[in-house]
Amino acid sequence: MKKNERIVIIGGGLSGLTLAYLLSKHNISATVLEASPRLGGRIQTIKGKNITPLELGATWFSDVHTNLNQLLEHLDLKKFPQYSKGKSLFQTKSFEPPQEFFVSEAEIPSYRIAGGTQALIDRLFEKLASEHIRLETKVTSITEIDNYLVIEANNGETFKADKLVLCLPPQLAGSQISFSPELSSNISTVLPIVQTWMAGAVKFVLEYPEPFWRKNEYSGMLYSHSGIVSEMYDHTNFEENKFGFTGFLNPGSSNYTKELREELVLKQLTELLGKDASEPLTYYDKIWTDEFVISGNQRINKPHQNNGHPFLQESYINGKLLFSGTESSTEFSGYMEGAICSAISTCEKLLKQS
Ligand SMILES: Cc1cc2nc3c(=O)[nH]c(=O)nc-3n(C[C@H](O)[C@H](O)[C@H](O)COP(=O)(O)OP(=O)(O)OC[C@H]3O[C@@H](n4cnc5c(N)ncnc54)[C@H](O)[C@@H]3O)c2cc1C
Repeated sequence: MKKNERIVIIGGGLSGLTLAYLLSKHNISATVLEASPRLGGRIQTIKGKNITPLELGATWFSDVHTNLNQLLEHLDLKKFPQYSKGKSLFQTKSFEPPQEFFVSEAEIPSYRIAGGTQALIDRLFEKLASEHIRLETKVTSITEIDNYLVIEANNGETFKADKLVLCLPPQLAGSQISFSPELSSNISTVLPIVQTWMAGAVKFVLEYPEPFWRKNEYSGMLYSHSGIVSEMYDHTNFEENKFGFTGFLNPGSSNYTKELREELVLKQLTELLGKDASEPLTYYDKIWTDEFVISGNQRINKPHQNNGHPFLQESYINGKLLFSGTESSTEFSGYMEGAICSAISTCEKLLKQS
């Protein structure tokens, strides 16, 4: 890379912030443009009434996610295993009692990040110079002028870049940003059919004053084919003094009102776990269909379709434009590990270019 090149990263999710951080370790400062009013993208931890960290987005990872584990260690963040002791439930039919099963202690654990997944985003942000991070700056066009790129955002601001990295779902890049000169037909045809992991998912969180299920020897784990809650896990914090659940609702529930979703969740859990379940401190859910993750309906639904596509590994507009982000990763695409893998490989590409 040439000295003093201006690097702009579009997207302030895990991949964009990790890339900015990796570059900063080579004394290269990049500007991050983020469309929404917050950093983190598909990572979003909210706090309940008792300040319990509650995950609306990415939550779990495992030992195979070596780059994520290394980054956590490097940033001095702790991980802890997902609680799974006790009776777990599997509901096949609404008119039959649930089946009970036990997760073997020999099973490879899933981990969570102490303090919430957002701690990873916050720690990366702390390491970066905040004046290089721009929120509420949604990029709408990229134009090549002479030997550089001009980036226009919806707030009227423009930025100049010698190198530009798109750290957002490829489908969004294709539908929200206009390119001049136009991207070649190869990549333009692929962008709309790269599946965006978890777009359309409905995640819910619940906070309780006490872990009543643990006292009754339940793990808090539930899989259901019949209720609105399709998957659920204990969401007690690292310190084990704040309690709750998190999981997924069946996708059809996105058509219900929030009030109806809450009512149906509490009804299902009260039937399965008893009266204590009916009085949470906090209920919240999020349907992941907003403009920051998807535009319109996905044209394809096969999980991870075209993720890590060879065209996403190439550079465009005379070597000035690169694709990054979890969907562009050839390994663990869709997951947090994929977001970090893409940042590592994009950083290497930028350092190699000269
Ligand atoms: C409900 C849910 C559950 C998940 N669970 C897990 C899990 O348990 N484990 C796991 O490993 N992964 C999980 N994931 C996936 C994980 O969140 C992602 O792999 C990872 O966060 C992706 O990071 P990214 O930076 O590549 O993309 P994103 O997080 O999508 O970041 C892209 C950023 O670009 C911004 N942006 C979009 N358009 C523009 C524009 N035009 N201009 C500027 N900025 C723009 C967006 O606002 C966003 O901040 C989950 C995701 C969801 C939604």
